[in-house]
Amino acid sequence: MSKTLVCTCEDVTVEDFEKAIARGYKDVESVKRYTGFGTGVCQGKSCLARAAQLLCDKGGEPPEKLGPITPRPPFRPTRFGALASVEDFDEVPPKGIPPPINLQSSPYRPSEPAPARAKIVIIGGGIMGLALAWNLAKRGERDVVVLEKGYLCAGASGRNGGGVRMQWSTRANIELAKRSMELCKSFARELGVNIWLRQGGYLFLVRTDEGARRLERNVRLQNSLGVRTELISPDGARDVVPQLSAKGIVAAAFNPDDGVIFPWPFLWGYASGAQKLGVRVETFTKVTGFQIAQGRVRAVETDRGPIQCEQVVLASGAWSPQIAQLAGVKLPNEPHRHEILVTEPLKPFLNPLVSVLDSGLYFSQSMRGEIVGGMGDPHEPPGLEMGSTFGFLARFSKAILEQVPVLGDVKVVRQWAGCYDVTPDNAPILGRTPELPNLVQMSGFVGHGFMMAPAVAERTAAWLAGEKDELFEKFSLARFAEGRLEKEDFIIG
Ligand SMILES: Cc1cc2nc3c(=O)[nH]c(=O)nc-3n(C[C@H](O)[C@H](O)[C@H](O)COP(=O)(O)OP(=O)(O)OC[C@H]3O[C@@H](n4cnc5c(N)ncnc54)[C@H](O)[C@@H]3O)c2cc1C
Repeated sequence: MSKTLVCTCEDVTVEDFEKAIARGYKDVESVKRYTGFGTGVCQGKSCLARAAQLLCDKGGEPPEKLGPITPRPPFRPTRFGALASVEDFDEVPPKGIPPPINLQSSPYRPSEPAPARAKIVIIGGGIMGLALAWNLAKRGERDVVVLEKGYLCAGASGRNGGGVRMQWSTRANIELAKRSMELCKSFARELGVNIWLRQGGYLFLVRTDEGARRLERNVRLQNSLGVRTELISPDGARDVVPQLSAKGIVAAAFNPDDGVIFPWPFLWGYASGAQKLGVRVETFTKVTGFQIAQGRVRAVETDRGPIQCEQVVLASGAWSPQIAQLAGVKLPNEPHRHEILVTEPLKPFLNPLVSVLDSGLYFSQSMRGEIVGGMGDPHEPPGLEMGSTFGFLARFSKAILEQVPVLGDVKVVRQWAGCYDVTPDNAPILGRTPELPNLVQMSGFVGHGFMMAPAVAERTAAWLAGEKDELFEKFSLARFAEGRLEKEDFIIG
């Protein structure tokens, strides 16, 4: 066993690299996400060359195939205090940096053709697609192919805050979240991967009387469904997080059973679990169209050739509308960028994930000690933008320091962005497509798909196997045409 370190910031060893390579992950972006190398304070400046050499020596990759990892701003770790002092930034956020990677030119695209056929093709190797693949395989349906245009974790599932909460405003979402939490707790036992679940609770703060009434309504519903959320005063919030100023806060809600997980292992767990059961996960494979005849999808076209199939599941997150369009189907969801950042690690002090509902600010402390936080921007136009902006750093820093002033000297190490997949009622789109019944919808999870995935995937696999489930009527695509919205109003950001 080698304890030789490759990445000293994140304690990543040569052995960790060997394990990643043995699992088939050889491109630098996948190995970064599998091992965590390059995500610490130096951001890969001291370990990237060694990492690349290992991928050549042990992974057998030629040097010309190894690009650098995506650089993430800020260039140097920078104090919240300094960032919060910046006043001059664009109201409408610019594209940001870094520019998007062109995955079409990726040297990792396999040269052999895609599998010629599969009973079920799942488009999207995010948490939804992979969790569904694993659930299908667990039920015995193993003739499944997952298509992912990039590396695993490329979409929102590799870019989110890892929050898992049961505080919602609708019965359907509370029940799904409760089941997901149970499945998160048994994940390591069932899939052999530690997702670093920490149940420190979620503390919601509101600044207005209307917000307080909303909390009150939601807490009543949550309690009636067995979730032990409590309505508390601003002083009560300070008992939960003593460092909180609670400035401008009029009420709070706290559920001690909510929590956070570390996103990347959640994906790896489902991916490797599905693959062990025979599912084929085809990365760097882009869906480019559909062959449709007599009202059914007959084949999915990819940049590695067509795949004949019986059913197709559209689990492509924020990209779902543009892929549905290739089949002539119009979806009402819109992508919206959400930015997020991480700080240097601190000693554990923050138990819950804290969110100020009115501003969209949220932050938690990871098991590695970092503060992870994000904030929605009401000026963000729709689009698949994923660059990081300086304005976000300034806005977030001001907002977090207003609530936790003691963090002024803590340094931001890394920022990135992903897309929320937003529907008109903030509820997902599930079930059959009216005009193409073998095209199954599984998108529109806004900012909460990560926590919903275990339960939604479990129920989708059962429903595809023929079990009746009202969820697929409730959240059907047809509801928009029928004017039957399922409004969820407890959205962060
Ligand atoms: C900043 C941020 C913070 C968030 N915080 C939380 C949180 O705390 N808790 C929570 O539950 N949720 C959170 N979310 C939301 C959550 O991440 C998403 O709802 C969830 O990850 C969606 O999963 P998905 O599988 O539907 O989509 P994705 O993970 O986006 O996967 C879709 C995949 O489809 C692939 N794809 C696209 N086009 C094609 C094509 N043509 N061919 C093949 N593949 C294609 C993409 O590359 C992508 O990997 C957050 C999101 C963001 C952006």
